Amino acid sequence: MSKPKVAFYWCASCGGCEEAVVDLAEDILKVVDAVDIVFWPVALDFKRKDVEAMGDGEIAVSFINGAVRTEEQEEMVELLRKKSGMVVAFGSCAHLGGIPGLANFSDRAGIFERAYITSESTSNPNRVFPKTRTEVPEGTLTLPEFWDTVRALDQVIDVDYYLPGCAPPANLIMDAVNAILSGALPPKGTVLASKKSLCDECERNDSKPEKLELTEFKRVSLTEVDPEKCFLAQGIICMGVATRGGCGERCINANMPCRGCFGPVDGVTDFGLNAMSSIASIFSLHNEKDISEEEMKNTMDKIPDPAGLFYMYSLPTSILRRKKMEE
Ligand code: SF4
Ligand code: SF4
Repeated sequence: MSKPKVAFYWCASCGGCEEAVVDLAEDILKVVDAVDIVFWPVALDFKRKDVEAMGDGEIAVSFINGAVRTEEQEEMVELLRKKSGMVVAFGSCAHLGGIPGLANFSDRAGIFERAYITSESTSNPNRVFPKTRTEVPEGTLTLPEFWDTVRALDQVIDVDYYLPGCAPPANLIMDAVNAILSGALPPKGTVLASKKSLCDECERNDSKPEKLELTEFKRVSLTEVDPEKCFLAQGIICMGVATRGGCGERCINANMPCRGCFGPVDGVTDFGLNAMSSIASIFSLHNEKDISEEEMKNTMDKIPDPAGLFYMYSLPTSILRRKKMEE
């Protein structure tokens, strides 16, 4: 009997999700034994034309990581959607927009200006930018168009399941592969991780007070962190209150606060708003009634880069979606 065909594809991401597949270690042999990998550009020499030559729905499942920010990525995910029975958004960037989605605080012109003109290591006095078409003696060189706005995978194509995380942990990947192979799948649209919040699974939860009193938000890099105590109880913002569990508390175990890469729990559409609301509801300022507006503002200003913090992984799928740029 022929084995189910599987594809992996990489859009706008750091490559960590590709590493996560390699992190399966010897389990990858079980995967290779059970499926036929027909497309995996980072590891195997298959070309786009090989996918184009397949029948519609011929690939059993495509695991697509990364957000969509270029013309080529959009074309490839549309092609893989057509050729696949099932598509899994693999990792935070495909799921929510991820770190590349923070580019939605700027646009193509702003990003090109920073990358090709003002970055400290760049000397480009003639202001040469990448072009989609360049004529050279040998012919025409082409590059894909770079869009103004970064999108999560389901803002471009229909997605069947989501494997969250930056990157998804090996045990969740194997659980997903086993569920797909056995056909024991939950309803379409399910995020294949815990239903609980990270706080519910965190060993430090018992030290998290119901109500906190603080006069400042501390930066983790400037604080000696108690490795047994809830970060919030130490005045350090931790997104575990608003984040889906299932990651194995990887950051907490490394004595770093959660930044929300698993995204929101079921039923929450805007991770950042929910995180802000959760943090606000458990914090109270010392002698709140006597505090002046100025003092309140000074305290809130101690949250470094709040937009980047609360929307670190999810700006494209938030209700903001992107910053409104000047016409
Ligand atoms: S806020 Fe962070 S440290 Fe505290 S219980 Fe939740 S996940 Fe753990
Ligand atoms: S602790 Fe938070 S940021 Fe770290 S891996 Fe888990 S969900 Fe992601």
